[in-house]
Amino acid sequence: MDLSIVIPLLNEEESLPELSAWIEKVMQANHYTYEILYIDDGSTDRSWKVIEQLRADNPNIKGIKFRRNYGKSAALNEGFRAAQGDVVITMDADMQDSPDEIPGLRKMLLEEDYDMVSGWKKKRYDNTFTKNIPSKLFNLVARKMSKIKLHDFNCGLKAYNNKLVKSIEVYGEMHRYVPVLAKWAGFRKIGEKVVEHRPRKYGVTKFGWSRFVNGFLDLMTIFFVGKFGKRPMHFFGLWGSIVFFGGLCIWAYLGVAKFAFQKYNMTERPLFYVGIISLVIGTQLFLAGFIGELISRNAVERNSYLIESKTGL
Ligand code: UDP
Ligand code: MG
Repeated sequence: MDLSIVIPLLNEEESLPELSAWIEKVMQANHYTYEILYIDDGSTDRSWKVIEQLRADNPNIKGIKFRRNYGKSAALNEGFRAAQGDVVITMDADMQDSPDEIPGLRKMLLEEDYDMVSGWKKKRYDNTFTKNIPSKLFNLVARKMSKIKLHDFNCGLKAYNNKLVKSIEVYGEMHRYVPVLAKWAGFRKIGEKVVEHRPRKYGVTKFGWSRFVNGFLDLMTIFFVGKFGKRPMHFFGLWGSIVFFGGLCIWAYLGVAKFAFQKYNMTERPLFYVGIISLVIGTQLFLAGFIGELISRNAVERNSYLIESKTGL
């Protein structure tokens, strides 16, 4: 199979028939063998009914339904598990992404031998203040921290090599960082292609302001876990030692001041409290490091390096 098109959706009943027809048109024009995987992320409207009807007319359309809303990441993850095509395309269901871009993305992925190609909504049709400006900032930080040269990490339209999607797990709200997850899994050839973006035709956006707060928190998590996930003591132990040692120095100084220079009002000095707090926090950081090591020692994937076996073992 040439293509799997994975489409997560939440309450998009009006868009689905139009989107399906448009994708079918593009697939037929290019003679692709394909499947469209609709992942219904707990819709409360008629979306699932519409998917059943569409499937009756076109057996290339497949549906997966969640019992409740688990989020776009979970939906993508299920789509990735099920995808059979050599190239996997993800796109949003709201018709903000154009199916006309699919052949171009596929061509770039295959001909230039990329592991993944991410869309770039260079001209966006969203609200300037609530979306476009925060998104620029967000992408700048993500780019600096991950050292992946992408302008639009969170673009819904992306193309992947099948091997890549089977090697990563998208959980929580990590759909914003799939390129980072891919890089961790050892897929380093990540390309970018400018794609057409369109205004939302039906329905409403499913992510509010919380997207930026959560997005930045997840960004921190992702870099912490990426760097220290398998060696937490190297982070907590280092900072624990520095803070604890700072506390010790303060106490040594106060001790000398008290006994050598007979200054007795130690507890009235702010430094005294800084010293105590440093010792306590330093110890706590150290203990957090030990607990982190105990947890990561038990993780199932503690030794999985995702090696490709050439010997058949
Ligand atoms: N979506 C989903 N589960 C959710 C939220 C959104 O599957 O919990 C889908 C949604 O139906 C759409 C895509 O994710 O197909 C992108 O969502 P949306 O268009 O609301 O995001 P925006 O374009 O505003 O960033
Ligand atoms: Mg949208």
